[in-house]
Amino acid sequence: MSNSDAQKLLWIDGAYVESGSGGFFETTNPATGVTLARVAQATADDIDRAVVAARAALGPWKAKSGVERGRILHRLSQLLREHRDELAELEMRDGGKPIAETPEADVDSGADCLEYFAGQAASIQGEYQEVDGGFFYTRPEPLGVVGAIGAWNYPLQIACWKSAPALAAGNTIVFKPSELTPLSALRLAELAKQAGVPDGVLNVVPGFGDAGQAITGHADIDKISLTGGADTGKKVMAAAAGTLKTVSLELGGKSPLVIFDDADLDNAVSGALLANFFTQGEICTNGTRVFVHEAVRGAFLDKLLARVAKLKIGNPADADTDVGPMISPEHGQIVLDYIQAGKDQGAQLLTGGERIQVEGCEHGVFVAPTVFDGCRDDMTIVTEEIFGPVMSVLSFTDEQEVIQRANATEYGLAAGLFTRDLERAHRVIGELEAGICWINHYNITPIEMPFGGIKGSGIGKENSRRALDGYSRIKSVFVAQGAVEAPY
Ligand code: NDP
Repeated sequence: MSNSDAQKLLWIDGAYVESGSGGFFETTNPATGVTLARVAQATADDIDRAVVAARAALGPWKAKSGVERGRILHRLSQLLREHRDELAELEMRDGGKPIAETPEADVDSGADCLEYFAGQAASIQGEYQEVDGGFFYTRPEPLGVVGAIGAWNYPLQIACWKSAPALAAGNTIVFKPSELTPLSALRLAELAKQAGVPDGVLNVVPGFGDAGQAITGHADIDKISLTGGADTGKKVMAAAAGTLKTVSLELGGKSPLVIFDDADLDNAVSGALLANFFTQGEICTNGTRVFVHEAVRGAFLDKLLARVAKLKIGNPADADTDVGPMISPEHGQIVLDYIQAGKDQGAQLLTGGERIQVEGCEHGVFVAPTVFDGCRDDMTIVTEEIFGPVMSVLSFTDEQEVIQRANATEYGLAAGLFTRDLERAHRVIGELEAGICWINHYNITPIEMPFGGIKGSGIGKENSRRALDGYSRIKSVFVAQGAVEAPY
C-alpha cells in the first residue's frame, strides 16, 4: 500500500508506514463534502511503534547543540514560507477555513513559531551560584518523548506550537492531529525531513480518541501536551496520572470582552468582530460574552450590525469569503442548537441565527454570524462554549459589577477590554481571571507572548520563552569544594 495525495499513511521514523490494523478513515472538505484523502488510522500498536522510534531518536537529537537544532528548525520555517500557498490551500480544504485567513493565520503563524524557537534553541541555559561548601549549577534537560494531541481548528499552527518548542529543547515528539484535520501535520512532517529533522524526531499518527488515549497512557512517553476541549483535558490529565507524566493543557473558554463607555467604539467593534467571527467563531480564546456599558450599547450595536451585514458567507476557496462552513455538519448542528436555545431562553436575536445555503457547497453547514442582545448571565449561550459565530451582548453600568460577572465562569482562557482610561485598563486587567488579556485589541497572539489559560481553561503556557520550561526539566548539581564533614 503506497502513500499518495489520495491516501495518506502514518508518518513514523521519517517515512510513511501502514497502520498495523490496516484501518483507514476519510478526511473531507467541510464545505463540499468531497473526500480529500483516505488516512491510515493509528491504533495503540502504531502509537507504540512511534514511541519506539521517538525514543531511539532522542539520544542523538538531544546531543546536538542548540545552534544545530535551531538551524534545522529555521530551515523548516523557511520551507513553510516557501510552501505558503500550498499549505494555506490544504488548511482551507481540510478545515473549511477561508483562504483569506489561512496564509497568515495558519502558515505564517506556524513559520513564525518555528523561527522563534529556532532562535531560542541555542539560548537554553542553566544557572550557577556559589554557596556554603561549594557551588551548584543547574542543567536544563529535555523531558524525553513528548506525546502531543491537537484540535481541528488550527491544525498546522497547533502542530508547530507544540513541536517547535519541544524540538528546540531537545525532545522528540509523537503528534496526533484531530481526525477531522490530519493533512497539514503530515505535510509538516514531510517538510521537516526535507529540512534535516532526523528520522524519528517528529512522528505524526492520525487517529481518533483511542489513539489519543494510547498516547496519554503510554508508559514510555514523558509529557503530554493537549489542545482540546475541557472534558478531554480532564480525561487526559487523569490518564496521565497513572504514569505521572507532566501535562500541559490548552482547553476551551467562554471569555469576556468588556467595552467601557469611553471606548473608541470603532476599535471596540473591530475587536468584537475579531473576538467572534474569525474562523467562523471556531477559536478557543473568543470573547463571546461581550459586556457593553449601557451608555454606549445602542451606538455600539448600530456600528456592529452595520459591519456584520458586510461579512460574506461563502465557499472558503473564494478569496472574498469571510465566513466558511462549520468544521462538520455535526458541529454545525450543535451551533444551531445553541442558537435555538438562545431564542428559547429569551435572548433577542439581532442578526444571523440561521443556516445559509452556499451554492456548490450544499454539504457544508454555514451559520450566519449571529448577534444576540439582551442576554442574561445564566443563559446557555452565555455560560457554555459554542465554538461557532455566536456573540452574546450583555449590558453593564458598574466596573466592579462587570469584573465580578466576567469572572463568574469555570473558564479562564482570555479576556479583553476597550477603554481610553489607562488607569482603569490596568486596574481591571489585574482583577480579571484569565491567562491571556488584551487592552484595546482582541485575539492577537504574537509568538513572543505567553499563551495559555487558567482555571478550567488549562495548565501551562505555549509560545514565548515560557514554553521551553514546559518541555524541559531542571537538574541541580552541587559541587563540593573542600573536605566532607560528616558527623559519623
Ligand atoms: P476535543 O477535545 O474533542 O479533541 C482534541 C483532541 O483530543 C483530538 O485530537 C481528539 O481526537 C483527542 N481526544 C479525544 N478524546 C481523547 C482522550 N480521551 N484521550 C486523548 N485524546 C483524546 O476537541 P476538538 O478537537 O473538538 O477541538 C475543540 C476544542 O479545543 C474546543 O473546546 C476549543 O476551545 C479547544 N481549543 C483550545 C485551544 C487553546 O489553545 N486553549 C485552541 C484550540 C482549540 P479526535 O477528535 O481525533 O477523536
